[in-house]
Amino acid sequence: MAETKTHKVTLIPGDGIGPEVTQAVVRILEATGVKWEWERYAAGAEAFEVFGEYIPSALYESIERNKVALKGPVTTPVGSGFKSINVTLRKKFDLFANFRPIRNLPGLETKYPNVDLIIIRENTEGAYAGLEHEVIPGVVESIKVITEKGSTRIAKFAFEYARKHGRKKIHSIHKANIMKLSDGLFLRCARKVAEDFPDITYGEHIIDNTCMQLVMNPYQYDTMLLENLYGDIVSDLCAGLIGGLGLVPGANLGHDCAIFEAVHGSAPDIAGKDIANPTALLQSAILMLRHLDEEAAADRVQKALETVYAEGKTLTRDVGGHAGTSQFADAILAAMG
Ligand code: ATP
Repeated sequence: MAETKTHKVTLIPGDGIGPEVTQAVVRILEATGVKWEWERYAAGAEAFEVFGEYIPSALYESIERNKVALKGPVTTPVGSGFKSINVTLRKKFDLFANFRPIRNLPGLETKYPNVDLIIIRENTEGAYAGLEHEVIPGVVESIKVITEKGSTRIAKFAFEYARKHGRKKIHSIHKANIMKLSDGLFLRCARKVAEDFPDITYGEHIIDNTCMQLVMNPYQYDTMLLENLYGDIVSDLCAGLIGGLGLVPGANLGHDCAIFEAVHGSAPDIAGKDIANPTALLQSAILMLRHLDEEAAADRVQKALETVYAEGKTLTRDVGGHAGTSQFADAILAAMG
């Protein structure tokens, strides 16, 4: 009999609600029958206290070795302090594609039913290039970087994904009426790639109009291709369409490595209370299972998740229930049989 493969995965529980949702998800992954070896690392303020580094070098080495990481949210200080750990890891491993599917869960009453959107966000440049400086006191410059290489590869990723998964339409979301050079280049690259995919309808919408259109009629979109900052903002908006940030998963994908993490942040307002919804990280873990070719395990967890939502008896507060994080995980485990 063939030996079952052990997957070595770098695990970053993160902070805020990170450790709670990560623990819930790891319990569920352990119950799939898939063999795991977790390499656990702290990152951010917690890591700095122990190692004197926000991202310990051993963490970098672990991801380099394993090529796959499951990551909880790590708090980024606002307005000052260290650089975002999330953004730093994405750049370090050149995880240029941020993939975020937005779909309803069965039984969960939300603002819109039957939403099926794919967000593909450029993950390494744009306004997140981190190039900011004070020119003179009171005057700051923040540089947005758009490159032909970066824009072309994310557009190719989007079109190839769409073709492979039977998606029919891609919209580039932009502000090229104002940022004519940078967003103009992003669009030119997307248009050029689109020429090789005549089977996929290509369109362009301005970002501000897109936000309004999404709220009025999200069904007009299928797959959305966005620069870094627009992708970040539109992801949260789309999470609101289907029940909130507690639900939406994400995958940061490069040619070599992948980091799976929820769209949401560390949610300090609800941390440590056993009330956070682990669904977003669980759905990210399902994406990870598929990435690791563990389709049967992915289907099993997906089915259990759908059963628990369809029954609606053991849901967390953010989606109208009363269950705690660990109770919700227990319900998933029970549904897995
Ligand atoms: P960041 O900028 O770090 O991504 P954010 O602005 O997306 O963070 P979050 O920390 O994700 O903000 O939290 C935004 C709101 O959503 C908070 O009120 C938080 O409680 C809620 N929230 C986020 N994640 C969850 C979750 N998993 N379960 C329940 N509520 C959540």
